[in-house]
Amino acid sequence: MVIAITNIGKIVSGNINKPLLDGDTIIIVDGKIASVGNKKLLSRYKVEQTVDAGGSTVIPGLIDSHVHPVLGDYSPRQKTVDYMDSSVHGGVTTMISAGEPHVPGRPKDVAGSKALAILACKAYKNFRPNGLKIHGGALILEKGLKEEDFADLAKEGVWLVGEIGLGSVNTPEEAGPMVKWAKSYGMKVAMHTGGTSIPGSSTVTAEMVMKTEPTVVSHANGGPTAVSPEEIDKLIKNTNLPLEIVQCGNIKIANYIVKKLNEKHQLDRIIIGNDSPSGSGIIPLGILRTIVQIASLNAIPAEIAIAMASGNTAKVYGLNTSMIDVGKEADLVIMDTPMGSIGQNALEAIEAGDIPGVSAVFIDGKLRVNKSRNTPPATRQVEIK
Ligand SMILES: [Zn+2]
Repeated sequence: MVIAITNIGKIVSGNINKPLLDGDTIIIVDGKIASVGNKKLLSRYKVEQTVDAGGSTVIPGLIDSHVHPVLGDYSPRQKTVDYMDSSVHGGVTTMISAGEPHVPGRPKDVAGSKALAILACKAYKNFRPNGLKIHGGALILEKGLKEEDFADLAKEGVWLVGEIGLGSVNTPEEAGPMVKWAKSYGMKVAMHTGGTSIPGSSTVTAEMVMKTEPTVVSHANGGPTAVSPEEIDKLIKNTNLPLEIVQCGNIKIANYIVKKLNEKHQLDRIIIGNDSPSGSGIIPLGILRTIVQIASLNAIPAEIAIAMASGNTAKVYGLNTSMIDVGKEADLVIMDTPMGSIGQNALEAIEAGDIPGVSAVFIDGKLRVNKSRNTPPATRQVEIK
């Protein structure tokens, strides 16, 4: 299948080092991006479907780097169905599990914890609500896990370790060796940072993160309790770890992280997650809201803030998506300034503090959303021919 998206106003790449691309046309062949450039490209392909963007902006599909799924599109934490499908309407095309702690009656022994990770990993490979790519099955570290357990898990396809601190292993002394084993089998490791979020989890300091050496500092802006500016300074100065900013965290510290990393020209270290379903609820537009918050309150160009929820995260997790470049999976969002905004296009609207209007979402080149049911309406129309 050959699809051409034409008449694009702006193309946001997702690559923070070159966030805007020249051109007005994107060609998709069999679910992957084949070319980016101008109209002349059209003569080179036998186009089967044309999507006239009408001057709208195209960005990469967004990645939510912090989700707590269970199984299916249902959250027992908030007694809510359909939230994953709803997130696709907010421009999210990939979700990464930070652990499945909300499973009712979650087993806390080694065999149970492994079984849950394998089940969620395999089940979400088969279950894609509205095409959404959910990387589930993030192992929760429990006392007693041995190196051979990580080998077993890797063989079954598990490649994520959920936030350290969710399970019984919550000190660097206990977690350190497990993190090394996990990484030696190619796994990516998240670590809960900051205050205690739910009963049973624990407070994690910068010192503990440095000793444990995870892949990602999860919710560096805290859960309900903030990480202090001094702790953030330590993480920025003494590590080169990605710092995750979540919607369901502390807004003031989120802005502090952005300010400090901007001064150091290290905005490539920020990735964006929702941290939902959680006590703060379910926020289908949470990733967009966080992009808007970061861009509008810190004078960061919208295309840079978008890269924090696309290319930055794809690089950290080694995913071949969420960048507009040849060979990448064609996960794309068409958006525009919403009706009534002072912004002239989606990027100006974001910088002005408005949620843009999502007019189309493609996953693997397949149209999944035609006019978002959640965002305000886009000003310019997208026509599919
Ligand atoms: Zn957490």
